[in-house]
Amino acid sequence: MRLSESFSIDPNADWVQEHNAEVREVLAAYDSDKPIRVPMTSWDGAHMHGFYADEIGLDYRDYYSNVELMLQTQLEAARRRREIPVADLPLGQAPDTWSTALDMHPVPAPGWLGCEVLFRETSVPAHRCQHLSKEACRKMQMPDPRTGNFLGKIVPMWEEMKKLCEGLTYLGAPVGQPWSGVCQHGVFGLCIDLRGEDFMADMYEDPEFAHEFILKVATWCDALEAAWRPEGDKPGGYGFGDHGIEMLSPHLYEDFVVPVIKEINRRRGTTPPTGLHHCGTGTHLFPIMQNHFGLTAIDSLTFPLVDIAKVRADLGEDITITAGIESEIIKSGPPERIRQTVKELLTAAKGKGRFTMQVGDMLRGVPMDHRIAYYEAVKEFGTY
Ligand SMILES: [Zn+2]
Repeated sequence: MRLSESFSIDPNADWVQEHNAEVREVLAAYDSDKPIRVPMTSWDGAHMHGFYADEIGLDYRDYYSNVELMLQTQLEAARRRREIPVADLPLGQAPDTWSTALDMHPVPAPGWLGCEVLFRETSVPAHRCQHLSKEACRKMQMPDPRTGNFLGKIVPMWEEMKKLCEGLTYLGAPVGQPWSGVCQHGVFGLCIDLRGEDFMADMYEDPEFAHEFILKVATWCDALEAAWRPEGDKPGGYGFGDHGIEMLSPHLYEDFVVPVIKEINRRRGTTPPTGLHHCGTGTHLFPIMQNHFGLTAIDSLTFPLVDIAKVRADLGEDITITAGIESEIIKSGPPERIRQTVKELLTAAKGKGRFTMQVGDMLRGVPMDHRIAYYEAVKEFGTY
């Protein structure tokens, strides 16, 4: 595997030193709950490679079928993130350990349950909903949580990646052992993946079936997480993040989903983690989550899709909010529109603190000057 042997920027250059000093100052102030400016965090995970894929003209069908290319792309993308000033991430410095993953995000769980997985040239994989009948849902048996359906493809690739990472160093730091990438993103979303939108009607027309089916799928999610938990680890809490819930009314959410989250945690002897990933529009459910699960932090809130100032007003100053600007706005620009959008958000929503912005890898085709304008706007309007 060919890997870069150095950063393409000079770590000792004045502009790099200035950037790094500001980053340290901003993050230290945030961590001590006395923020001087809203931090612009950078997702630094193995799934983040869209901008780098643009730079090298990556065909994603190759990335998802060639383990060596997958690992190389993850490492080189992590290096590039440390060369461009688009977030509060120190530049020109390797992390303690480079993180890697067998990256099939976001399809391992639906693929495991038998949804067809689609690979495309310019984007991450997607899956098709199955539209099963109620009868088929009732009869369905849990696929093997280690090797069932799509997981059978993941296992040998993961083994191959583990071997590649063994003893590997990159830019002076060790490469960690890869995460399997197998996890689930919410029981309700999976019910929709299997049964389709008809499941919304089921909740009114045949609530008994709907209750049974959600619990059945949640029980499988529990088994999936257990099967992929590192040996010897105790189970953590079963989370309530869910990509399918935004179309539920507060009443339906409380009636159908909350009890199932509580039941799986009861079986585990745990309580749910209090942080929530929510990139959708389900803000009307946050007060219920706060009530039942003691919500303390929300990440991936997207502006202007969601009225983040209202979320802050509803939930109070103690909630930690991490927000981003809609990818499409960053992609299409122009820079002044990006600046105005950030201004609008930060003026209304940054509150007294516990507010960060985040930038992921974004959609492919985002011009670099848009990414820079985004960061500059956070610096301009994010000060306290
Ligand atoms: Zn999401």
